[in-house]
Amino acid sequence: RDPTFKKPEWLRQRAPPGEKFSKLQESLSKLKLNTVCVEAQCPNIGECWNGGGGAGGEGDGIATATIMLLGDTCTRGCRFCAVKTSRNPAPPDPMEPENTARAVVSWGVDYIILTSVDRDDLPDGGSAHFANTVMAMKNLKPEILVECLTSDFRGDLMAVFKLVHSGLNVFAHNIETVKRLQRIVRDPRAGYEQSMSVLKHAKLYKEGMITKSSIMLGLGESDDEVKETMADLRTIGVDILTLGQYLQPTPLHLTVKEYVTPEKFASWKDYGESIGFSYVASGPLARSSYRAGELFVQNLVR
Ligand code: SF4
Ligand code: SF4
Repeated sequence: RDPTFKKPEWLRQRAPPGEKFSKLQESLSKLKLNTVCVEAQCPNIGECWNGGGGAGGEGDGIATATIMLLGDTCTRGCRFCAVKTSRNPAPPDPMEPENTARAVVSWGVDYIILTSVDRDDLPDGGSAHFANTVMAMKNLKPEILVECLTSDFRGDLMAVFKLVHSGLNVFAHNIETVKRLQRIVRDPRAGYEQSMSVLKHAKLYKEGMITKSSIMLGLGESDDEVKETMADLRTIGVDILTLGQYLQPTPLHLTVKEYVTPEKFASWKDYGESIGFSYVASGPLARSSYRAGELFVQNLVR
């Protein structure tokens, strides 16, 4: 790769956090909650935590945050991801669903995304743990909106069935990349068909379930391949799509093949909405959970 292949300017901006962000961060340290937003130093934190205000402004929208369940150690090793891995991570904390629910409810965030590492060591992949957390949250605060961004549960459809009946509002699972690059980018236990099956059944098992997925760009995919993946997601009824730039977390991970321009991302948004997605968030820094609360509400009013 050309050593002068540097990160473009549009990827170096950081929105200064607003006032709501500071308040949330303060209460967060007391609650001992681990958010992906802080852990991953996500550049969108100003926008998400402020409820769509962006650039330090106070949003009047839905404040969104992402919480990681089931520990910080993954049983898989995808080539784009810097999470630490082990065959035998620590067993899940049985009190985590209840404690997380209590902390999130007292924190005051409106839309919470629950996500986790992959837990191939657990018989149900951690699905009951997710479901228990959703139920505990809805029990304490019925109006809270909950999205679960899950693993593929190794394609275990019973795990999917149980989770979609726990009361969650959005089921999200990321396809991550186009069909041809699955083997190169994701752990060999993941796969295109398996991920499509999980998303398809989440929709089929629960009437009105909103489903969501995400594709990283910049890994060497062609436009036609992106279009094919988008069409496949639409065929199985996926409602919301996010497209973001792949960024290499360490020199040991896959290299970036292309920095996709903001204009190109904007054209993918138009294209996605023209083929029937209710909402497409597409931008260099867009992530699966990017302003998810906002997207949810906009999806409902459409
Ligand atoms: Fe990272 Fe998820 Fe892959 Fe685990 S399964 S390595 S957390 S992307
Ligand atoms: Fe948190 Fe996701 Fe928003 Fe980043 S994009 S701040 S991880 S909710």
